[in-house]
Amino acid sequence: MRAVVVGAGIAGLMAGRTLARAGHEVIVLDKGTSVGGRMATRRIGEATFDHGAQFFTVRTDAFAAHVHGWVQAGAVQVWCRGFDTADGHPRHVGTRGMSGVAKHVASGLDVRCGVTVQSVSRGPDGWRIAAREGLSLRADVLVVTCPIPQARVLLEGAGVALPEALATLEYDRTLALLVPLPASGGPFVLPPPGGLQHPDATFSFIGDNGRKGISSAPALTFHAGPAPSEALWDASTEVQLQTLLAAAAPYLGTAVPVGAQVKKWRYAMPRAGWPSPCWASSEGTLVLAGDAFAGAKVEGAAGSGEHAARTLLA
Ligand SMILES: Cc1cc2nc3c(=O)[nH]c(=O)nc-3n(C[C@H](O)[C@H](O)[C@H](O)COP(=O)(O)OP(=O)(O)OC[C@H]3O[C@@H](n4cnc5c(N)ncnc54)[C@H](O)[C@@H]3O)c2cc1C
Repeated sequence: MRAVVVGAGIAGLMAGRTLARAGHEVIVLDKGTSVGGRMATRRIGEATFDHGAQFFTVRTDAFAAHVHGWVQAGAVQVWCRGFDTADGHPRHVGTRGMSGVAKHVASGLDVRCGVTVQSVSRGPDGWRIAAREGLSLRADVLVVTCPIPQARVLLEGAGVALPEALATLEYDRTLALLVPLPASGGPFVLPPPGGLQHPDATFSFIGDNGRKGISSAPALTFHAGPAPSEALWDASTEVQLQTLLAAAAPYLGTAVPVGAQVKKWRYAMPRAGWPSPCWASSEGTLVLAGDAFAGAKVEGAAGSGEHAARTLLA
């Protein structure tokens, strides 16, 4: 069986890995320059930032088994066991940033980045997948893991109608402010372990990438909450930057940021979830997976991808 997976976020990679381990030919396509999707890590000068997911938790035995392997392989470590109060639950991070976890899961898979899938269609010999860059592939089964609004556009072209409640799922947006700080400019005001959840009306999370262990230079990630992100979404990049930097000032102490950037996540978090861990077409050759299905987090997305593969293998 030949499987094409659209999306090399954690859902697509877990789906691809599960299918490949079962002996099938798998090609994973992603429009990004690297794997990971919303598990994203970026460098600005000497500073390294996680700018999507900041950490992940583990609630199921199935996911715990994967994470154990990733820890053994040196790809994942525990950052802390709580932020404002230590609740005991480990917060895991990639040792080389969150994208490093995705890179680890992707190793050995045929993953092609920089490939934007433009259309999918069903024919007598299976699925035909066409990319903007000119690539055209045939597949027996298709796994689609991009956020639902993007998946819906792709599938409409193939005459696939999703259930109304799935097709109309909406996502919150997030503006991420990335602030590199000079090593000599501190101290800045973020107590150990270096993460603040819902610290004020603007930010939903502030993360210190240095304390987290992924950046040798001081580097803070600020995530604006859904409402401030929405309010600033259409402003110019300069207005977004200056507005968020002003809101971030109380956390910067005397440090003067140089080269701060804003990153926009159009589909950051689904506002609601589909009740099953994936959605399969009636003839069973198409499966949708991702964080819209089994919980809007890294663990849910990973579990959804794995479940999608097992659905195709059943
Ligand atoms: C700002 C932010 C903070 C977060 N914080 C946390 C956190 O602290 N803890 C946590 O557990 N979760 C967090 N999350 C959520 C977590 O990142 C996601 O739930 C998870 O990474 C989703 O994985 P996925 O594979 O379902 O989707 P994605 O990671 O979005 O992967 C989908 C992939 O599809 C690709 N794609 C889309 N369209 C196409 C196309 N046409 N052709 C080819 N490729 C395509 C995209 O490039 C992308 O790589 C956060 C998310 C954001 C945005």
